[in-house]
Amino acid sequence: MIRGRLALWAAGLASLWLGACAPLPLEATPDAVRDDIAARLQADIDVLASDAFGGRKPGTPGGDATSEFIERRMGEIGLVSGTNDPGSYWRMPVDLVETQPVSGQLKLGQGRKMVTLTEDEATVFTPRRRALAAGGPGTGVPVVFVGYGDGSVLGDAMAGAAALMLADPGRDTERREALFRQRATVVVTVLPDAEALAAVRRRYAASRVELASEELDTLSAYITDAALARVLGAKRWAQWKNEASKSDFVPFELNMAVSIDAGADRREFVSQNIVGMIPGTIPGSGAVLLLGHWDHLGECAPPEAADRICNGASDNASGIAMMLELARRLKEGPPPGRDIYVLATSSEEAGLLGARAFVKAPPVPLGSIVAAFNFDMMALAPEGSPVGFIGRGHSPALDAAILGVMARRGRVTGDQALADSFLQRQDGWALHQAGVPSVLLSATYGSRAVLEPFLQSRYHRAGDEADQIELGGAVEDLLLHEVLIRELADPERYPSGTGAQP
Ligand SMILES: [Zn+2]
Repeated sequence: MIRGRLALWAAGLASLWLGACAPLPLEATPDAVRDDIAARLQADIDVLASDAFGGRKPGTPGGDATSEFIERRMGEIGLVSGTNDPGSYWRMPVDLVETQPVSGQLKLGQGRKMVTLTEDEATVFTPRRRALAAGGPGTGVPVVFVGYGDGSVLGDAMAGAAALMLADPGRDTERREALFRQRATVVVTVLPDAEALAAVRRRYAASRVELASEELDTLSAYITDAALARVLGAKRWAQWKNEASKSDFVPFELNMAVSIDAGADRREFVSQNIVGMIPGTIPGSGAVLLLGHWDHLGECAPPEAADRICNGASDNASGIAMMLELARRLKEGPPPGRDIYVLATSSEEAGLLGARAFVKAPPVPLGSIVAAFNFDMMALAPEGSPVGFIGRGHSPALDAAILGVMARRGRVTGDQALADSFLQRQDGWALHQAGVPSVLLSATYGSRAVLEPFLQSRYHRAGDEADQIELGGAVEDLLLHEVLIRELADPERYPSGTGAQP
């Protein structure tokens, strides 16, 4: 709903004049103000989602340009440093490691005969540049069959061993991590069939980015049930599986040799969260946190596509633009009692990594943050849309404050099940897990009618461009946040402690 500029101003002035004559039942905002906000949002989104920013991937020139743009805008708005680090005014480092599997081979055997397994039978992954492992008779590395368990009954005895485990969908990631924590050299997972193996291969095919501090030094192999039967003999393998299904099963050492050779491309690099602040007037009264992720996917369309850049206009140039405009308007008004932190996170698309880094090394005690507001994919809904309330139901005080302001602004909540389904898919989840009351309020998540067409056409694709966005709902959402955050930043209207503990 982007109208022409001249028409916007004329309409705005007319309603401003009318508004002065007739008192309105709700907290109305003059059209001229709305149009000004829309124009500012559009201007920042146009820059951030331009091809010059290359899709804002961390660790690329486009990522650096994004950080520099946000820093400059925070300075223009009049924010001060929120890093709590005199040596780094706006930036807090996010240490990352990117890995991509390049090779892998698994051999199994009994006695001296080793069998190299084919691509349809097995696959091997490690985040290391090169990983070699050998287990079985004569190697000093026992091969231990843990069945459907995680080897924990063996305690320290798993250290250095190779573990063979039967897949149990839903529990496997957790079991593998438990085995690696017990310092297993390699974990071999037995999958039911070639289809399951292909799914694992697809999952590992793309490069993955992790926080350097969270990386597990692992060596994982996956093998099909049929391949194991081929190497061990069907009868013996059936016997072992039968053992594993008994309630009194105890892991035991196998007379089986394992040999693995795997490698990965690996790059360690540093990205950054950008943190500004509006200082509050009442020291020690706590803080309100605004956050949005600045990163997107870079070039994500297939190599043959004419336009490969995934510009991420809605996801999430819109959230950054909205957070900056909101901060500008809050800074222009009377100073808040509480500090208001403004956090642009890195690497959300890789798994909320910047938000998790913030939680691990916060510049302000997490317990002093009375509420966190995330901004993600904000520019999809037209004016008049219901509000998706992600994070509802975890803090009665915060919920009450939000619903109160919504009622005054004439806003209604939308499809709650839809909003709930996004709880873990946004940066606020990292804050929520750390005990910070955290919500995302946006008309984007209020109805399937708004969200589904975007998810099916432009989401995480080259078509998420600046000329495709809709700002009607975004402007209403921004105004809602402005009133709400002024209230929450005032310790008299929102006493400290009432919002804590989800
Ligand atoms: Zn995304």
